[in-house]
Amino acid sequence: MAIEDKLATIRFNVDAEPHIRVNTGICETCREKDCLYICPVQNFTLAEDKLVFSWQGCVECGACRIACTAGAIEWAYPRGGFGVCLRYG
Ligand code: SF4
Ligand code: SF4
Repeated sequence: MAIEDKLATIRFNVDAEPHIRVNTGICETCREKDCLYICPVQNFTLAEDKLVFSWQGCVECGACRIACTAGAIEWAYPRGGFGVCLRYG
């Protein structure tokens, strides 16, 4: 099964409160921007050279937390009852 097909099987209960926060002030001085390439659901994007992060659709893999060596990411699992709630396949 392709990764896209696996991702399509995940169900979410999205919290209005972000469980991951990004200090975009640090991002302005980051040259590598590895977060753009590591997130399996493309939650990190650029808009006019500014980093934009959205937590909806996060599969809680933790890759961004490891990839960002600049310390811009404050990472936690979603609150109880939120986030990835069911997986099929
Ligand atoms: S890798 Fe970290 S510091 Fe660099 S753009 Fe991404 S979140 Fe910001
Ligand atoms: S934890 Fe994984 S899916 Fe969630 S934003 Fe970070 S890299 Fe993307």
